[in-house]
Amino acid sequence: MRNRFPGKCYRCGGHVPTGEGHFERPSRRTYEKLELAAIGGRWLIQHADCAIKHRGTNHTYWKKVAANG
Ligand SMILES: [Zn+2]
Repeated sequence: MRNRFPGKCYRCGGHVPTGEGHFERPSRRTYEKLELAAIGGRWLIQHADCAIKHRGTNHTYWKKVAANG
């Protein structure tokens, strides 16, 4: 579903303008898989490009930030 509000991409951390990404309501499983507890929030937004690029992975920008210290 296309996002109806702008937000921050959970894949790359970049800004996602309205209508240029996808948003989803994560299931409990997704929530745990992505370690969303670390940032909170009930909705996820990602770029359409990032959705394709990272499909099937649990790549998130906050894990990257954590890994880089
Ligand atoms: Zn992105």
